[in-house]
Amino acid sequence: MNIYLKIKSNRDMSDPLLKQEHGSAAFTETAPMPVIFIGHGSPMNAIEENEFSNAWISLGERLPKPRAILCISAHWETKGAQLTANDHPKTIHDFYGFPQKLYMQRYPAPGSPELTDFIIQQMNTRQIEKSNEWGLDHGTWSVLKYIYPQADIPVVQFSIDRYKNAEWHYEMGTMLSFLRKRGVLVIGSGNMIHNLRMIHIPGEDFNAEHGYDWANELNTIFKQKIEGNDIQSLIAYKTLHKEVHYAIPTAEHYLPLLYVLGMRSGSDRVTIFNDKVIAGSLSMTSVLLEDENGKV
Ligand code: ZN
Repeated sequence: MNIYLKIKSNRDMSDPLLKQEHGSAAFTETAPMPVIFIGHGSPMNAIEENEFSNAWISLGERLPKPRAILCISAHWETKGAQLTANDHPKTIHDFYGFPQKLYMQRYPAPGSPELTDFIIQQMNTRQIEKSNEWGLDHGTWSVLKYIYPQADIPVVQFSIDRYKNAEWHYEMGTMLSFLRKRGVLVIGSGNMIHNLRMIHIPGEDFNAEHGYDWANELNTIFKQKIEGNDIQSLIAYKTLHKEVHYAIPTAEHYLPLLYVLGMRSGSDRVTIFNDKVIAGSLSMTSVLLEDENGKV
């Protein structure tokens, strides 16, 4: 937080004019930032050097340094949309039965109440609540620890309202697209194909390439629809394949993709990475959108 904002925060922020001044002061216009959907996979990726974590390290070397990061994580479902508002979000270890080393991990990035206020002010047609209860769950920190290992960029999480349909989430993404020109990196973190009940590991290696037929077929369909910008099919994902209910038994790991695609601009170049189906019913396939006209 800069000194200007520290001084501002002592003033009456209920005044709408001051609120506007407060938000825009920190988030002046920039060249368009990339947007990313990341298949985060197993929490073990947070402590394992493997092809996925190595790709996240490479991503960090390629990406510009943003002012702040907004992450839509599959692991924060709420009733009503929420944004984290804490100055120092805690690292949440939202998984059970893993090695102690994983529970020792911390990602001490600051929060950005300024970004939260700015988003709420800009998105005033949709109600968004502030949360001081949540922090950074593993959908966020297990990948950010590789992309920005210094943990020096403020991070805000956006929840997934479990009572809304796919169209609503896509529209929310379109409404967030202003952030790209305000120096904010938006990441959707989930998995396009995610069925933990059907996990099947043929050998020792959890990350070995292995998918049920429907998983491999759907992975191809998703890539074609994303590359062809067929948004309507991706919103109506339940009709994409006769066995899509195996791939997406619940929507929370899929929906972050729709936020990212909602932020797509006509001049974006699409890069697919970590393109792999593992453990039968989990895809790590990820999408990077970069504006070709607006190199940062
Ligand atoms: Zn997950």
